[in-house]
Amino acid sequence: GSETNDGSVTAESVPSLMKHMPLCMNRLMHGVMSDHHLKYQGRQQLSLFLKGIGLSAEEALRFWQMQFTSGPGSMSIERFNKEYKYTFRHNYGLEGGRINYKPWDCRTILSKPRPSKNEYHGCPYRDLHRDQLADQLQKMGLDQGARLDDVLELSDRGEYQVACTKVFELVHREKISALLKNGDTVDETSITHPNLYYSRSLYLES
Ligand code: SF4
Repeated sequence: GSETNDGSVTAESVPSLMKHMPLCMNRLMHGVMSDHHLKYQGRQQLSLFLKGIGLSAEEALRFWQMQFTSGPGSMSIERFNKEYKYTFRHNYGLEGGRINYKPWDCRTILSKPRPSKNEYHGCPYRDLHRDQLADQLQKMGLDQGARLDDVLELSDRGEYQVACTKVFELVHREKISALLKNGDTVDETSITHPNLYYSRSLYLES
């Protein structure tokens, strides 16, 4: 991948880290890459998550400018600087009240208004239709069958974080069983934060 040797996250390396991101962040990443834009809640949800995985303020500005200003139909750099630069700097406490905003946990994400058309924020286990969710889960490597049905059922019952934790365990099942066989302990507590999903994945796969 394009990760740098010292492990720091750069504007260029963010897409290569998608394999460690939970479905909510994968969906936002696909959204910004295809639309060259994200609406307000999506910008907040993704930018604070990226801040949490170690994207610096400087690299974040490069990341968002790159996403918003390249590709067909994208905006000009002037417009980006005029209308969007401030909000991304703001999330890093570099503008306004200089508050150090924290990445949103699942509870906060679930408390925001639900996404409408052309919005990608929220929790996909709650916000996607069953078929769409099944499709996304297959893209994450889950085969059709009992395991996939389990996740869909948990989502139907409103147990979104349990569904997400289950998906994590299925995606990483080989690594987890190797560790357990080795006598190592594996954190099996529920995912309550997208950044927890990310750091657990990074830990298991590196
Ligand atoms: Fe994201 Fe949390 Fe939903 Fe998982 S349960 S997709 S981490 S909001």
